[in-house]
Amino acid sequence: MDSAEDLVYTPAENIPRIASEKRAFFNTHKTKSIEYRLVQLRKLYWGIKDNEEALIKALQQDLGKPPFEALIMEIGWCAGDALFTSNKLREWAKDEKAPDIPLLNAPLCPKIRKVPLGSVLILGAFNFPLLLSIGPLIGAIAAGNTAVLKPSENAPATAIVMERIVSGYLDPSAYTVVQGGVAESTVLLDQKWDKIFYTGGASVAKIIAKKAAETLTPVTLELGGKNPAIVTKNADIRIAARRLLWGKIVNAGQVCISQNYTLVDKEVLPTFISELKATYAEFFPHGVKASTDYARIVNERHFQRIKAMLDNTKGKILLGGATDESERFIEPTVVQVDDVNDSLITEESFGPLIPILPVNDVDEAIRIINQVQDTPLGLYPFGTKTETEKILLETRSGGASVNDAYFHGSIPTLEFGGVGESGQGSYRGKASFDCFSHRRSITTTPTWLESVLSLRYPPYAGKLEKL
Ligand code: NAD
Repeated sequence: MDSAEDLVYTPAENIPRIASEKRAFFNTHKTKSIEYRLVQLRKLYWGIKDNEEALIKALQQDLGKPPFEALIMEIGWCAGDALFTSNKLREWAKDEKAPDIPLLNAPLCPKIRKVPLGSVLILGAFNFPLLLSIGPLIGAIAAGNTAVLKPSENAPATAIVMERIVSGYLDPSAYTVVQGGVAESTVLLDQKWDKIFYTGGASVAKIIAKKAAETLTPVTLELGGKNPAIVTKNADIRIAARRLLWGKIVNAGQVCISQNYTLVDKEVLPTFISELKATYAEFFPHGVKASTDYARIVNERHFQRIKAMLDNTKGKILLGGATDESERFIEPTVVQVDDVNDSLITEESFGPLIPILPVNDVDEAIRIINQVQDTPLGLYPFGTKTETEKILLETRSGGASVNDAYFHGSIPTLEFGGVGESGQGSYRGKASFDCFSHRRSITTTPTWLESVLSLRYPPYAGKLEKL
């Protein structure tokens, strides 16, 4: 089994050569062939399937990720996406007839051709290290680009297996994994790319966006957020408790779209808390620490950060609270906070903390959501249709799951992305193909049209009257 120490960073001095080789290969036009793309996508599928066991082990090593989560939420997802994309590629890549063309322009056959952007850079994040790297790579391949992928150095075992898959199954002239941390990423950002696709935190996203602006390189930024959940007095409280607890248990809460805080109507707060407790006992009958169904925090730095949030809150712990540094274990922890300025609300925990803030009504919940962060990545209202529609109308977010915890993010063909502070651009399914394509507008003017077109040439005198 690979260990974190086995991760060999790519020598920084090799990075400019790797980047220019990808560009040079793009310029051979080979990646533009649909057949070529299909072969690469199918090879990627087999690379993932052949390495399933290695990936399960790596994800377990990096994050203590339960095999169930590894298979359903990462490995199966990536393999399925590679297959789905290869099945759909011909349809997606077809020229599109431009809509609503004025009759006079029809002879020009206006159309949109989907062409690759060129040579692209993908920077992955640690929490779903396979999905967040291979997912965008599938889009880049499908759209006909060459690509450099830099997986997160914070999930080193998975990064090693991914490198093995990419170098062993894909065309090395077109796709390369660069391993490294900040120093290597910085050198990567110094190269010229035709798109940078980044998943991670907002502060690094600003560095990337600034760097990309120097060369007017387009970016897709998949960031995090302080996602709210809202439980109104008319919600099904048992269901809300079950679904929201699940939302924080997956990957030990290290999920960009999991709820960061939950606003609960005061009237139903006691029922909600007791349902949370009952569900917790049901999910982990022998205790969460002993369970093989609960992940660990990715590294010491994140463990200490989350633990400090717990230590510093003025809220009251209602459930959980146990930590164990030796295992980087943090128990799912429900905390009742009474102040909207508590750091459990105002900071993204990216961990298994479940702060609950009681509210008087839906209007107060909406005010708080828009005050804490008016453009979170996800939003989870539980209530009647009228209530949830009102919440959707009066708030913004990248996506939303009504009466659920981030289930919108589990639909592989549903466009996924943030808005404002939670990111820009989106991907998944066809959106991944679009994300790495340029829609090139093309017209073809027939020579026989010249007599009509002569109207556009000077001298203009007397021509307006003819139109
Ligand atoms: P991370 O530590 O894995 O870093 C993400 C990537 O940024 C890595 O590839 C890393 O090497 C690179 N990086 C770090 N510093 C850099 C620098 N100075 N210059 C260039 N690149 C640099 O992940 P993270 O940033 O801790 O991720 C957690 C955040 O990501 C959370 O806010 C979470 O919500 C968000 N996230 C968003 C999504 C999404 O799809 N929207 C998914 C997962 C995580």
